[in-house]
Amino acid sequence: MSRYFTEKYASLTPYTPGEQPKDMQYVKLNTNESPFPPSPGVEKAVMEQCGRLQLYSDPESTALRTKLAEIYGVKPSQVIAVNGSDEVLNFAFMAFADEIAFPDITYGFYPVFAQLNGIPYEQIPLKADFSIDPDDYVNLNKTIVIANPNAPTGLCLSLGQIEKIVRSNPDHVVIIDEAYVDFGGESAVQLVSKYDNLLVTMTFSKSRSMAGARLGFGIGSEDLIADLNTIRYSTNPYNVNRMTEFAGCAALVENDYYMANCRVIMENREWTTGQLQALGFDVLPSMANFVFAKTERIDGGKLYVELKKRGILVRHFTKERIKDYNRITIGTMEQMQALIGAIKDILEEQTL
Ligand SMILES: *Cc1c(COP(=O)(O)O)cnc(C)c1O
Repeated sequence: MSRYFTEKYASLTPYTPGEQPKDMQYVKLNTNESPFPPSPGVEKAVMEQCGRLQLYSDPESTALRTKLAEIYGVKPSQVIAVNGSDEVLNFAFMAFADEIAFPDITYGFYPVFAQLNGIPYEQIPLKADFSIDPDDYVNLNKTIVIANPNAPTGLCLSLGQIEKIVRSNPDHVVIIDEAYVDFGGESAVQLVSKYDNLLVTMTFSKSRSMAGARLGFGIGSEDLIADLNTIRYSTNPYNVNRMTEFAGCAALVENDYYMANCRVIMENREWTTGQLQALGFDVLPSMANFVFAKTERIDGGKLYVELKKRGILVRHFTKERIKDYNRITIGTMEQMQALIGAIKDILEEQTL
């Protein structure tokens, strides 16, 4: 830290992204990216906009928001487009939270956004089976953020449980982070017309194969979206760049391609879960594009290291409550077969 770093950030612990090593080609199952490339229209749209980069992007992302509004059955004024959904999460913390609550095991960025913005936060423990007890959030009287499905567990709350939380906290915004909803979850977007304190966030990074383009969005009441725009226009009005906005529009035109890919991922997830269980793993029932698994046959950290030696990257967290587990992104069938083959080898070596 330089001696110029401002006092108010001196104790900030930044988010640690999953590793992106460059020493060799890995089977990358560590950051929940899609194994499939974007659809053909996306490449064409980006190429076209390359020749127009002298112009600023549309600060309102009107074309993109109009398409999103159509798909999600809301008005364009109920949609904000952002530079990855991390951005709308940060804006929402800034705009709505004096105090915020979220589970003890969840997306690692929530405590960082809270610290960054000087917001006191409460981490509510998951139940022993790693599920969220919705009653912990009923009448809480604080801003709430819940990833649904949750990360890194993959577990879901039902729409009814979400509604109970939203309805019982009318004086606070409830943020539902739906980064993984396209892999079998139920979206709370259908509740936004009923509750003006509900903000749903989504991303093109996982189900729409565009993690590198940085595109996310939020859906809520017109008033919540207007507040988020006040923050956005006070930060970076051109937050979504020209190439990304057009890429996003093109992806939505070809939405069926992405939804078909999600179905493949869900099938591969069921296959991988069965294979891991047959090898003696406990696998949480995931509704996301990853599984969270552990086995008594090998230490979680050791499995991560052994897989990496064999060219396969998964995500291991050192946090006490989950250090036995690895989070494994679901890729193509070929990638999952490579994973299962490597795990079999590692477990055999263990018993020699
Ligand atoms: C990946 C992820 C995000 C954000 O992704 P962006 O790439 O910033 O859109 C948000 N929440 C959760 C739970 C995630 O896993």
